[in-house]
Amino acid sequence: MKLFSVFLALLASLYATNTRAELSLDSEGDFLGSEDTRFSQGNVLDVGLRGTKRLALTFDDGPTPTTRLVLDVLRKHGIKAVFFINGKNTAGRQSTMNQIFEEGHLLANHTERHGNLRSTSDPVSAIAATHQKIKNYVRSDEVFLFRAPFGAWKSSHAAKLNAIPSLAQYVGPVFWDVGGAISRSGVQYGAADWACWSKGYSVSACTQGYVNESLQKKGGIVLFHDVNAKTAQMLDRYITTMKANGYSFVRLDTLPKIRALQ
Ligand SMILES: [Zn+2]
Repeated sequence: MKLFSVFLALLASLYATNTRAELSLDSEGDFLGSEDTRFSQGNVLDVGLRGTKRLALTFDDGPTPTTRLVLDVLRKHGIKAVFFINGKNTAGRQSTMNQIFEEGHLLANHTERHGNLRSTSDPVSAIAATHQKIKNYVRSDEVFLFRAPFGAWKSSHAAKLNAIPSLAQYVGPVFWDVGGAISRSGVQYGAADWACWSKGYSVSACTQGYVNESLQKKGGIVLFHDVNAKTAQMLDRYITTMKANGYSFVRLDTLPKIRALQ
């Protein structure tokens, strides 16, 4: 406990002196096991998948008309995934929400409007609003998961959220291992679907980026966005390739390291 306090003090000083502290935190911080957190003070980075040839698929920013295409691919391959939704997108899409739930996937919280939480002192309203939209879809033996838009977070948010009983049930913010960026040199080291489509990469090139990064890390949390039909096409190719390489798929919330944070 004392060590932990020292650690927190060290982090606080980092924040005070270094505007890039959250980047250091992202690369070094790992709050798994810290006892004061449900919402963690930093992104949850290590869920134990790297090096294990296991992948956890996650889809952000839906639901949209693309979500059903993604569900078709997941059903075809027998894979369960996590959908981090933006509450504003659920209007008129109740049947898609129902389908995500009924097909065995987990609905999770990605805030109401995808605002950058690093630039606000009030993280509660954006997260609480989306909680109202997913709470009836998460079973009592499942986990409320949260991912911050852009991965942007502030350590001071955790205490504010954990003070509210319904939100203190959450685990997060959960980061990702694969799918975060596309390098300047192309897809040799990895890709991100939104960047692929905006830069005009083909489905096969983008798939190769995801495959390359997955093989290099030998497993992890994979980030996709169910907002563009090309992502659904890529997903089918990606899953087929990874299965051929001996990889298996797990639903993120079932991992022991996630369960330990509850
Ligand atoms: Zn997002």
